Amino acid sequence: MSAPVREQLVSRIAEHARRHGLDRVRVLLHGGEPLLAGPRVIADFTTAVRRAVQGTGTEVDFALQTNGVLLTEALLDLLLELDVQVGVSLDGYAEAHDRHRRGPGSGAGKGSHARVTAALALLGGARYRPLFGGLLCTIDPANDPVRTFDALAAHRPPAADFLLPHGTWDHPPTGGGGDGALYGAWLCAVHDRWRAAGRPMRVRLFESIDSLSRYGGGSSSEVLGTVPAAAVAIETDGTVAWTESLNAVAEGAAHTGGTIFSHSFDALLGLDSAPEDGVGSLCRRCRECPLVQVCGGGLRAHRFGRGRGFANPSVYCKDISALIRHITSSRDQ
Ligand code: SF4
Repeated sequence: MSAPVREQLVSRIAEHARRHGLDRVRVLLHGGEPLLAGPRVIADFTTAVRRAVQGTGTEVDFALQTNGVLLTEALLDLLLELDVQVGVSLDGYAEAHDRHRRGPGSGAGKGSHARVTAALALLGGARYRPLFGGLLCTIDPANDPVRTFDALAAHRPPAADFLLPHGTWDHPPTGGGGDGALYGAWLCAVHDRWRAAGRPMRVRLFESIDSLSRYGGGSSSEVLGTVPAAAVAIETDGTVAWTESLNAVAEGAAHTGGTIFSHSFDALLGLDSAPEDGVGSLCRRCRECPLVQVCGGGLRAHRFGRGRGFANPSVYCKDISALIRHITSSRDQ
């Protein structure tokens, strides 16, 4: 992201915070790999955003999501000074993680697991632990769910998020989606391990199912609930995307049609591309589904395909419904 784009982004964030008198704004530095921007860009940007909202009463929470391989002590010292939380992507034990996460020069069989776990040893130590935001694990049903959970829990993260790989009805996720419930079974096994271990960390997916089904409460998981995430993604050239997951639908499908140069964040909501929200926007099968208040039809991207646009249940319908039923029935035992 070039300096002019960063400057414009700083002004848009400040404009929005001021206009709405926001107490808090959350800015997630994402990628690709955000640490490739380098320490100076990260320091300049976070400092500029905080300076721009000075006097408005708005607090800015920064977090970054990294693959962990560039996390050094020097960088962690800087992030500590800047008060930037760190989330690390870890897909489980060595074989599980290295199945997909290999650096360009790593060669076959040499993934990044060793480097990531070394970084996590630093991040989990007393000095940097206040920065530790959590772990992000992309689900691969080829990996053992219990071993995966145990590998994550060994780092004592404050939170762990489990990410369903993106897919649509036209391009279903590998080995699952559609009529199978492979991912649902995987998540049920992780849930049981998490519960048996005394819930040692937050798992937003499980907690949201519990909260939504028990109290009709809020969801802290983007995948669930009937209210869309109040977030937008800013691309490096300043174009604004509704949510990156829509890129699974087609090239450019995530784009709002606006940029931070042409539109304020409020103005984006008036664009034709703005997604409809609420149960009324879902297909008939979802609207009539007894689980709709919890599931919400899943991620919008996961509904796409079969010549019907987004008017489908989620490609993970069977998985999500199996997990919801499992959590609600095991809670009642
Ligand atoms: S995706 Fe499936 S479980 Fe979710 S609301 Fe639609 S029909 Fe129900």
